[in-house]
Amino acid sequence: VVAAHDHAHHPSAPTLRGLGPRSPESIVRHMHEDRLLLGPGPSEPYPEAMEALTRPVLGHLDPEYLAVIAEIRERLQQVFRTTNELTLPVSGTGSSGMEACLASLLEVGDTIIVGVNGYFGERLCEVARRGGAEVVRVEAPWGTPIDPADLIAAQQAAPHAAVLAVVAAETSTGVRNDVAPVGAALAPTDTLLLVDAVTALGGTQLEVDAWQIDASYSASQKCLGAPPGLAPVTLGARAVARMKARKTPVRSFYLDLGLLHEYFLASPPTYHHTASSTLAYSLHAGLGRLLEEGVEQVWARHDRIGRLLQSALPELGFGLIAPESNRLPQLTATTLPNGLDEGSLRKRLLAEYGIEVGGGLGAFAGRAWRIGMMGHAATERSVVTLIGAVRELLA
Ligand code: PLP
Repeated sequence: VVAAHDHAHHPSAPTLRGLGPRSPESIVRHMHEDRLLLGPGPSEPYPEAMEALTRPVLGHLDPEYLAVIAEIRERLQQVFRTTNELTLPVSGTGSSGMEACLASLLEVGDTIIVGVNGYFGERLCEVARRGGAEVVRVEAPWGTPIDPADLIAAQQAAPHAAVLAVVAAETSTGVRNDVAPVGAALAPTDTLLLVDAVTALGGTQLEVDAWQIDASYSASQKCLGAPPGLAPVTLGARAVARMKARKTPVRSFYLDLGLLHEYFLASPPTYHHTASSTLAYSLHAGLGRLLEEGVEQVWARHDRIGRLLQSALPELGFGLIAPESNRLPQLTATTLPNGLDEGSLRKRLLAEYGIEVGGGLGAFAGRAWRIGMMGHAATERSVVTLIGAVRELLA
């Protein structure tokens, strides 16, 4: 009604498809809609990461841009806890990191063992299957961790497997999967360990070198405190050697990690694709803020804030899905008090308080929330604000 009324007074007002006629004033209001992002991602970016988005756009071969990339690579090495040469931001969201690793490390007909105890383990299977790999699933029920002994046993039963993949922090259930014992067991074998660190990186301990992880990928928009658009990836020496020994070229040109590495290192620089300097500046700034605080200090902050939230939720009648031993601090999957409709309460939280949380996925669809306390949002203020709003909604 308001939009139609405005429209009558602005005959030439622009129309946004699907949103109906809007006055210039309402478009501006729409652009400035403020949210507190406490869902499974994107999280609240650090102010430095948002400020960096306004810097001038640079060409993808500009020495200034390549200098920023060089620093991002160093910063990512510190956050991944690795000296891996091949550490770089891949264009695209976390899924492009997943696809880049699978496409670059697997050939058609190769076997991959995948730990599946949630939505993102399932996605790993699907991406590998579409790439022509034989998938061996090692399952645990949604909401419980995968026993590392089961993964190790699966590799012993299929020692020819090219890759074993596991999600360190399963965003669909708030469960942490132990990867350190798997790395130690796989190191003497020919099977590479690939770890999904999309929600883990910068939120909980992840040690690429010490845990003997061969390849890992993440995303800019979770605990790294930058907006979505870049996927940090790191490959160790064994993974790089595997890529170099391929019998067939990587099927994806865009996500070929060998080509991407050459693009970032070549002298003189050569074109591969038009990478975004804007997103690079932003990730650079987010990582800078994280490293200023310190990697271990950031883990400790996520731990403290996650525990604070998890101690407050049961007082309101919410249940915690993940077992305490493997409960992530940065992502809490929680069941709602009896009889409450998760969807309508979540919509009211967004509409009336501007707070975003996520709904349940898969086995928990319709009966759970997923609450992220990640990056810049991992603060006491977020917990107090969310708990206060939920308390009011339940009153
Ligand atoms: N893996 C995990 C564990 C995730 O949580 C996500 C996204 O939430 C992804 C992969 C895919 O990342 P994106 O949505 O950024 O493409």
